[in-house]
Amino acid sequence: MLPVSHAEKIILDLVRPSSGIESIDLNLATGRILATSIVSRLDFPHWDNSAMDGYAVKFADVRSSTSKHPITLEVVEEIPAGYQPQREIQSGEAARIFTGAIVPAGADTIVMQEHTQPVQKNFVKIQITPTARSFIRQRGEYARIGDSLLAAGTVLNPAEIAILAATGCSEVEVYRRPRVAILSTGDELVTPNRLLKPGQIVDSNQYALAAFVQQAGGIPICMGIVPDDRAKLTAAMSEAISSADFVLSTGGVSVGDYDYVEDILAELGGDIQIRAVAIKPGKPLTVAKFNRGDRSVVYFGLPGNPVSALVSCWRFVKPAMAKLAGLPKSSWYPKWIEAITTQDLTADGKRETYLWGKLELIDGIHHFTLAGGSHSSGNLINLAGTNALAVIPVNTNIITAGSKVQVFNVSSV
Ligand code: AMP
Ligand code: MG
Repeated sequence: MLPVSHAEKIILDLVRPSSGIESIDLNLATGRILATSIVSRLDFPHWDNSAMDGYAVKFADVRSSTSKHPITLEVVEEIPAGYQPQREIQSGEAARIFTGAIVPAGADTIVMQEHTQPVQKNFVKIQITPTARSFIRQRGEYARIGDSLLAAGTVLNPAEIAILAATGCSEVEVYRRPRVAILSTGDELVTPNRLLKPGQIVDSNQYALAAFVQQAGGIPICMGIVPDDRAKLTAAMSEAISSADFVLSTGGVSVGDYDYVEDILAELGGDIQIRAVAIKPGKPLTVAKFNRGDRSVVYFGLPGNPVSALVSCWRFVKPAMAKLAGLPKSSWYPKWIEAITTQDLTADGKRETYLWGKLELIDGIHHFTLAGGSHSSGNLINLAGTNALAVIPVNTNIITAGSKVQVFNVSSV
C-alpha cells in the first residue's frame, strides 16, 4: 500500500498553483495571499524626522553643554508633525520640534524636551551633552525607493497590510481563493434539520469539510447529499468537477457494494493516481486528476467516517490547498513539532497511525495528551476540543509515556 509520504508527493505534483489574480480593497485583504511583489515607492522614513518631542540643534553648538553649564539657544521656529520647516538653523539657534516632524536643514541632533529648560519667550537652555545625531530617524533608514518590501506568496497579516497602506496601495492584487466543491455520498445521510429515521445519520461531513475549506483559505461550494445511486452520483460528481478547482467527496470509496466513487471517476475520464494509502485512519483515499480544457481539477474521494475524512483533509488536502492557493513551498507541509507524550501511544505498526489529542506548551516543552474516549474513526465526539495529531510511524507499535513523538497542530493549519 502507498506510504503516506508518497501519497503526499503524488498529490502535490498533481496540483498547479493558481494563476488567477484579483484586485481587492486593502481592508478586505487580511489572510489573503499577495499575488505580485511589492516594491517601495518611497523612502522610509520619507524625511529625516524627530523621534522625540524636543529641540532640533546643531551638535557643534551644544557639545560642551551640561546641566551645570547649560548652553542657551534662540528658538527660531516651531515644527509640529506635518509641517514643512521654513528656515535653516544657524549656529546659536534651535527649533522646537515634535515627534514625527521634519528635522530642519542645518540641525543634526535632537535634544529631548526633558533635558531642556525654556527661558523667556524665545530661548531654551540645553541641560545635557547630547549624542551627535541622536533621536533622528534618517530618511531611508528602514527602506529605500525600489527596495522589495513584500514577496508574492506572502500572507497578508496586520503588519503586511500596514506596509501596503504606507506605500500607497489601497487596493492589492491577491490570488483568487481556491473553489472547493463538497459532496456527501450515502443513502443514510440527512441534513441536520431532519428528524432521524432508524438507520439515518446527519451529514456532518458536509459542514466539517466546509469549515476546513474556509480555514484553509478556500471557498466551499456545498453540493449536498447524493444517494448511493450510480446515475445520481455520476451526475453530481460530474457537476462538481465542472464547477471547482478541487472536489472533496466523502463516502463510497471502500470496497462495499455501494462504493461507486472510484468506478465513476474512471468513467468520467479521471486519471486515478491513488486508490488507498497506508494511513490510519483514512486508508480508502481515492485521488484523481481531470483536465478540462485549460483547467485542471483534483478530485479527493475521502472516506466517509467523520474522523477519517478530517484527518485526510488535514494530512493531504491541506498541503494541496496551500500549493493551489499560491503559498510558497515552505508553507505546504504540516509543521511538525516534537512533543513529549504524556501517555503510551500504541498502533498496529502496519500503517502510519494518527492519534488525536491536545498539544500544550508546559514550562517551554510541548506535551501531547491523547483525547479521552474511543479512538474509533467514527467517533467525531472526542475529536472536538483536540488540536493536534500525533504520528506513530510504520513498524512502531508503541511510543511510551515520556518519549518524544512528532505532532502537528490542526487548529492552526
Ligand atoms: P462509507 O465510507 O460510505 O462506507 O462510510 C463510512 C462510515 O461513515 C459510515 O458509518 C457512514 O455512515 C459514515 N458517513 C459517511 N458519510 C458521512 C457523512 N457525510 N457524515 C457523517 N458520517 C458519514
Ligand atoms: Mg457510504
